Order: sequence, then C-alpha cells, then structure tokens
Amino acid sequence: MSRFERVGSAPRRAVVIGAGFGGLALAIRLQAGGVQTTVLEKRDKPGGRAYVWHDQGFTFDAGPTVITDPAALEELFTLAGKRMADYVELLPVSPFYRLCWEDGYRFDYVNDQAELDRQIGAKNPRDVDGYRRFLDYSRAVYEEGYVKLGSVPFLSFRSMINAGPQLAKLQAWRSVYGMVARFIEDDQLRQALSFHSLLVGGNPFETSSIYALIHALERQGGVWFPRGGTGALVNAMVRLFQDLGGHLELEAPVARIELEGGRVSGVVTEDGRRFDTDAAASNADVVHTYKALLRHEPRGRQEAARLSKKRFSMSLFVIHFGLKRRHPHLQHHTVCFGPRYRELIDDIFRRETLADDFSLYLHAPCVTDPSLAPEGCASHYVLAPVPHLGTADIDWAVEGPRYRDRIFDYLEHHYLPGLREDLVTHRIFTPHDFRDELNAHLGSAFSLEPILTQSAWFRPHNRDDKIPNLYVVGAGTHPGAGVPGVVGSAKATAGLMLEALQQGVRP
Ligand SMILES: Cc1cc2nc3c(=O)[nH]c(=O)nc-3n(C[C@H](O)[C@H](O)[C@H](O)COP(=O)(O)OP(=O)(O)OC[C@H]3O[C@@H](n4cnc5c(N)ncnc54)[C@H](O)[C@@H]3O)c2cc1C
Repeated sequence: MSRFERVGSAPRRAVVIGAGFGGLALAIRLQAGGVQTTVLEKRDKPGGRAYVWHDQGFTFDAGPTVITDPAALEELFTLAGKRMADYVELLPVSPFYRLCWEDGYRFDYVNDQAELDRQIGAKNPRDVDGYRRFLDYSRAVYEEGYVKLGSVPFLSFRSMINAGPQLAKLQAWRSVYGMVARFIEDDQLRQALSFHSLLVGGNPFETSSIYALIHALERQGGVWFPRGGTGALVNAMVRLFQDLGGHLELEAPVARIELEGGRVSGVVTEDGRRFDTDAAASNADVVHTYKALLRHEPRGRQEAARLSKKRFSMSLFVIHFGLKRRHPHLQHHTVCFGPRYRELIDDIFRRETLADDFSLYLHAPCVTDPSLAPEGCASHYVLAPVPHLGTADIDWAVEGPRYRDRIFDYLEHHYLPGLREDLVTHRIFTPHDFRDELNAHLGSAFSLEPILTQSAWFRPHNRDDKIPNLYVVGAGTHPGAGVPGVVGSAKATAGLMLEALQQGVRP
C-alpha cells in the first residue's frame, strides 16, 4: 500500500505534461509521495531542452551543460530512499569557465580564491577588494533569493510583500550589471561577473540584481558535468521515477486539458487517449499550456492573452558538431566575448535583425568525458544568443545556414583552426526549432524574461489562480529557468500538489 492511499478508494493520480528537468523532478516528488504519476512527453526522448542526439559515435547534449547545485538533485534521490551515485556520476569541472576576449585577454573562472585574486589583481589591483565585496553581496542574495525563497510558491501578493523588505535591502531594483559595476572598475571583469544572467535568459543590464546569486551558487556548490553527458542525468531521473513505479509515455503530445466543474478531470493526447486524473501539472511552455491545451476554456484564452503581453527571454542559435581531432588547449566551457558587450546584448533583446558580431559559448565536453566522441575525436556545441521571433521574425531556413557559416568562420579563425577540414558531422537548432519542437512561445529559449516585474509573485504561479488542481512547473513559473531553477520550481509545485492530493487521506 502506498504511503498516501486514500481510505476506501484508489490511490491519487497525477499527470505531468512534459519531461523536462522540471517535469521529471516534480514527477519523482509526486511518485515518492505516493501519488500514481504519469508523465506525457511529446518527443521521442525525455529531457526537453536537455535532449540528446547521437550521430556517428558522437553524443550531443542539446542544452544544459553547466550543472550547478548538485545538492538539489541529490535531494530527489534521497527523498526516494536512494543514492544519486548509484544512478549517475557527477564530475567536477575546473575552471568553471574560460572567458576569452578578442584582444587576447583570458580569465579562468575557478573556485579558488587565491587564484581569482591573482587574476583579478593582475588585471586591476583595486578590483581585488571589490570582488570580495561583490562575492559577499552575491552570497547574501543567494541566501535570501535562492535558499529561502527559491522553492516556495508565491501564490499571494502578501508573500511578495513579505519578501519586500529583504528585496529592498538587497537593492533588487538594480540590474545585475549595475550592481557588479558598483564593486568592479575594470570593463572586462564587469563582463566576466555579469554575463551569468544570460544563462537563464536575462539581459544583465535589465535583469534584477537578485540574479547575481548565480555567482555564489557556483562558488558554493561547484560546476559539474555528468559522466556520459547531461543526458545521463536525465536518464538517471527517469530511472528513479520508474523505479518508484511512475509511468512515462514518450511520443505522447498532449492536445487538451479537460475540465469538469472548473477542475481538471483528464488530459487527452493528440491520438485521442484520455488520462483521467486528480490533478495535472504542465511542464510545457506556459503560453502553449493556456493557448493550446486550454484553448477551449475561457480561462485558457484569457490567461494566454495576458501572458502573451509579457516579455520573453531571447532565443538561441545552436550548432552541434563533431570533429575528428581534439584541441587540447580548450577548456570544457569557453565564453567567447565578441567586440561589443552592452550594444550586442541590446541588439539581441531589441533589434529586428541579426547583429554582424556575436558572443558565443563553446562546449567541449570531451575535456571532461572523452567517451562522448569516438577515439581521438571531439563533440562540441556552440551557441549564440539571438533575438526571439517576436523581436526579429527571421527566416531561419535561409538565415540558419548562413549564420552557421559565419560562426564556423569565426571559430576557425579564433578558436578551432582547421575546423572545416576536421568536421565529421553537424546540425543546427534555430529559434524555429525551439518554437516547433518544444512549443516555445516566440521560440524563446528560457521562457519569460527574468526581470523583477516578472519574478516571484509576478511570474505565472505554480498553481493556477482559477483552476484549483492545475499546476505549472518549469522555467515559466517561480523561480525560473536553469536546471536549479526548474528543480526548485518542482519542489514548490510538488509541495502544493501533495498537500492538496493528500487531504482526506490517511498516511
Ligand atoms: C542551449 C541551452 C543551454 C542551456 N544551458 C544551461 C546550463 O548550462 N545550465 C543550466 O542550468 N541551464 C541551462 N539552460 C536552461 C535549462 O536547460 C532550462 O531552463 C531547463 O532545462 C528547462 O526545463 P523545463 O523543466 O522548464 O522544461 P523543458 O526543458 O522546457 O521541457 C519541457 C518539455 O515539455 C514538452 N512538451 C511541450 N509541449 C508538450 C505537449 N503539448 N505535450 C507533451 N509534452 C510537451 C517538451 O517536448 C519538453 O520535453 C540551457 C538552455 C538551453 C536551451
């Protein structure tokens, strides 16, 4: 008998729509809490943005590669009475990132205070002390914004008011860059300490300085990479869920969430199968959830119209490619800053066309785990932040191959000599693919932009305001995008669901 079986009736059931990190983390928590849980995923593999491609012996992780806060992942296994180490191995990554500029300056962002002081001191001695003060600030926001509030649901405005004094004390109205600039003088060091918000879809010049917490999060918990790639972590979560008795259906796109008497009664897949349920949680894009899955309900149409007016994070252009040669000088994570910083970011968030220059993130996972490519070869991806389709309605079928060629030229010139000659395979993933494969509104890579007026209570709530047994989990709800963010959202959403589903039950 499961722990929370209802008196005289069948166990409670829940359906989770989407098998991204948020959906899987929620499903594990529900199943571990005794709720019979089914995950319905549109694609042929789980993971969502953390999808995996295999080609000619190369393994390509599609999305997250910088794994932070391993304790939040470990917690999922612990609450199920298991050990994460029995499912997946996390390997430490050092340096966390290598940051490179076109003038030849390099900064290795490591988790070693003395080495950081040395590098910062060599660049600008006055910033050594400034960095310490920035780190103190980052740790304070990490405690308040992540440890205390990162996995609690903001359902009422009162909860926002309660958090107000702390947010005011931490000057949350300032931008990440604005806050960094208060401590750091050197322009390149300012870039090095402010670019992190781009990792969760935020413009460093507009995202609330609360997101400076990412720096402390990385310093505190380290940067990790799963042996076998991020896909191995996804598979570990799926296995844990299934070991607990959970049910995952792949290639099961949901067409409709059905209501009876104002409550969710079932979820219907595109092939017409109906899954009766006591509650449903959507890990799919929030606009898609209301606009498509609830289009037959006034609530769906109203909420979709409201959400469509929100600001969405930028999209990404990603090239996955396999080379027949390794480049031993590369680190696992390289951020390649282009000639412009503020102006380029401004173009990405506002301009109707692609800029001529770019800043790139280059992934070289074989540095940590050579098994991701055939012997002597290397798998990579490179991504460029680009405007979403609402900002720039680019015809990616035409522009994609051209943009790929420009990026390859740039990489060949600056980072990977002989790239074209060594190229074994490649594929591109454009904003159109975010829209069509992942149902992402405007092809946004990270859902709603993480600005203060779209954070916490101002973000779509973990439980719908009108439909009491409909929930949201993932990047579109509190706290937001990024693996730690969506795993935190799962904790917040699971707390609400388990409380409701366990009412009238005996342990
Ligand atoms: C290229 C890239 C790199 C990134 N790098 C990092 C990183 O290094 N570190 C980090 O922490 N974060 C990173 N992120 C962000 C992070 O990957 C995401 O914020 C996070 O994975 C999103 O998880 P999610 O739970 O919101 O679900 P998603 O991954 O968005 O998954 C949602 C799932 O819902 C499914 N779905 C949609 N519609 C339906 C439907 N109608 N029926 C059934 N299923 C449906 C989709 O197919 C998908 O599987 C990166 C993102 C990208 C795109």
